Amino acid sequence: MLKLKDVHTYYGNIHALKGINLEVTEGEVISLIGANGAGKSTTLMTTSGIVPAKQGSITFKGQDITHMPSDDIVKLGICQVPEGRRIFPYLTIAENLDMGAFLRNDANEIKKDIEYAYSLFPILAERRNQAGGTLSGGEQQMLAISRALMSRPKVLLLDEPSLGLAPIIVKQIFDIIKKINEDNKTTIFIVEQNANLALKAADRGYVMENGVITISDTGENLLVNEDIKKAYLGM
Ligand code: ATP
Repeated sequence: MLKLKDVHTYYGNIHALKGINLEVTEGEVISLIGANGAGKSTTLMTTSGIVPAKQGSITFKGQDITHMPSDDIVKLGICQVPEGRRIFPYLTIAENLDMGAFLRNDANEIKKDIEYAYSLFPILAERRNQAGGTLSGGEQQMLAISRALMSRPKVLLLDEPSLGLAPIIVKQIFDIIKKINEDNKTTIFIVEQNANLALKAADRGYVMENGVITISDTGENLLVNEDIKKAYLGM
């Protein structure tokens, strides 16, 4: 469904992605793990067209999207939940969700999707008229995911959904990510430092170091891989 082939990305002179090859199949949950600065966020931002690839190709359902503007990539159904959430703090929860549907004009279906988001995260329903900026970090992450769902993405790109959140909230969010994948067959691509949870949730995982992919395998195999256990799982 989504294929990155020999992708290179630079920030000025910094060579952040040094020939990334990865594939995401329709309906899969994929996790990309790695240390700080490995290039995980850059991989997502290059995929969604926010940071341009200098070399290589990115295809989505066979279509070349390597140099496509990011809003056109969203229109194709690839939607990113950025690191640090970036919800609209002065808009209410309900207004934030409406913003997520700005490319759509099917009012009845939008309504259904809002109800679906509220069923995933009942706390958002309770607080629907509250400003987004007054929510806790975990609630803001819930809202950011819900807002992304409002575009009915085919692929959901999640950048560090666990960042700065308490373990119990992280667990809840990962359970819901799995549920979104199961309910809607949404393909999910997660970038995470919390390797344990990310690999548990994933059908397949990739490990990244210094701008290159070093290992790829099923989530299950990576969880018992001795090198991964030592380097990323603290065992
Ligand atoms: P983290 O978990 O800390 O976000 P990461 O694996 O997502 O790490 P990236 O944020 O993709 O890593 O960073 C990859 C490399 O690119 C790092 O060396 C980083 O310092 C550099 N980098 C990232 N963003 C920028 C930027 N806006 N300008 C310059 N260099 C950047």
